[in-house]
Amino acid sequence: MKSFKCADMGFSCGWTASASSEKELMQKIAGHAPNHGIKEITSDLAAKVKSKIKDQ
Ligand SMILES: [Zn+2]
Repeated sequence: MKSFKCADMGFSCGWTASASSEKELMQKIAGHAPNHGIKEITSDLAAKVKSKIKDQ
């Protein structure tokens, strides 16, 4: 299971997500990103997000 905490990106936010694959998790994160004014997940941002994804 892959998991992600929004707070790990430096946001003051309690949102977390988990999914069985990184691809599915990235889709959930992309759906949450607009809450922080992020309209597009750039490749730089995707790399940062992926570095924060934990395997559980
Ligand atoms: Zn958030």
